[in-house]
Amino acid sequence: MPTPLQRAMFQEMATKAPFLRAQMHAQQYLDRVLDRHAYPTDADLARLDIFNEPLPEKPGTASGIIDFLARNGQDGTISSLGGRYFGFVTGGALPVGLAAKQLGSIWDQNAALRVMSPVVAQLESVVEGWLRDIFRLPDTTRAGFVSGTSMANFCGLAAARYRLLQRQGWDVNQRGLWGAPPLRIVTSSEAHATVKKALTLLGFGQDSVEWVRVDEQGRLVPAEMPPLDERTILILQAGNVNTGAFEDFNTLCQEARKAGAWVHVDGAFGLWAAASERLRYLTDGVEGATSWAVDGHKTLNTPYDAGLILCADPEALTAALHLAGDYLLTGEQRDGMYFTPEMSRRSRVIEFWACLKYLGKAGMDQLVTTLHERAWQLAEGLRVTPGFEVLNDVVFNQVIVSCDHDDLTERILRQIQELRSCWVGGSRWRGRRVIRISVCSWSTTEEDIALSLASFSRAMDMTTP
Ligand SMILES: *Cc1c(COP(=O)(O)O)cnc(C)c1O
Repeated sequence: MPTPLQRAMFQEMATKAPFLRAQMHAQQYLDRVLDRHAYPTDADLARLDIFNEPLPEKPGTASGIIDFLARNGQDGTISSLGGRYFGFVTGGALPVGLAAKQLGSIWDQNAALRVMSPVVAQLESVVEGWLRDIFRLPDTTRAGFVSGTSMANFCGLAAARYRLLQRQGWDVNQRGLWGAPPLRIVTSSEAHATVKKALTLLGFGQDSVEWVRVDEQGRLVPAEMPPLDERTILILQAGNVNTGAFEDFNTLCQEARKAGAWVHVDGAFGLWAAASERLRYLTDGVEGATSWAVDGHKTLNTPYDAGLILCADPEALTAALHLAGDYLLTGEQRDGMYFTPEMSRRSRVIEFWACLKYLGKAGMDQLVTTLHERAWQLAEGLRVTPGFEVLNDVVFNQVIVSCDHDDLTERILRQIQELRSCWVGGSRWRGRRVIRISVCSWSTTEEDIALSLASFSRAMDMTTP
């Protein structure tokens, strides 16, 4: 005899009522999302207070809970699916990716082992091969499907730590870091915050890092790099979060290779430049590194959370993430958990696979190239808009702009956000307050850029009488 709770849930499975409600709300959301204001209004935000309630005493109804969530939650979302959300480096989501994620959510697979989800293991193998092809990486390269570049940076640096210590005759899994031969970390002062976090988590203090000076675009200056050796992890960047700049991979990777150093590349959004005929030059030489961190949820426009660690030394990766001796590398039979720190994981490869299969090489090229063209359009427009100064070379999808002085930049930024026609964030660049614009949604059109430029002008008019 089923319990009353079980009976209710069997009923929900039989009628599909909660699924149909969720589907209906999702469709209504999709109808509005592209034209909605880029950021919730104050009234929308105030409505979120309704979620502050004590944990219910008794079970509810699934449909009622879905309705409650849709009614009170949907206007508290950010329109990152729309064409005028330029905050952070967020990325839109391709329709095919969202739909695949929806189906994959219902399948609810645990991606840990092949026996736990044959279809996920199959797709991970296929996508791994496609990625090697897109980024032109060595044949030995294997992929771990993680939550984002934060985790991917952690994995790449863990693999590097394992391998470089192992070459010094030190098994870090067995003996730990205390008393280990010292490793050197060389990176630029522009390394992303998540690189610094990964280093800290791995037991490398900030003080042990050899910070290299950068040029005016935020690129590490090769001539300023200290001599590398076989105890060095060199961390490079494909796409600076402010300027979008790329390091000189040819020079730096060659030098590292000669010295026996490990090169890890943080390519969160920028590595995808490799998919564009026109922008590929930015990633020239990047295949000379040993590990690469990249996101699906930024430039590729997979839904959130989708990141990748790619590593040309898969034994180091699996040994670092799973105790040496405890791992298997069977080749054809892929067990995804050996390439990530987690055991249970959701099946994020489903969205990766769907987006890549949908776009193909030509579609990916168009997607990436268009992001660049729209960023360029915006920068050109700002160059002729009185009161704004574009501070970076727009090589990829990032534009940073400032006004006469920090205080004015700050006020204009707030005003643009207040207008809600587009949404841009703030940052600091070379001591100046800047407005940072990241064009990374498939849905941004020329008209969206024109509307956004109008918002910049309007904010300037409203702020400077
Ligand atoms: C976004 C970003 C990260 C962090 O990636 P998450 O996917 O947010 O974890 C790291 N490095 C760079 C350059 C980024 O743009």
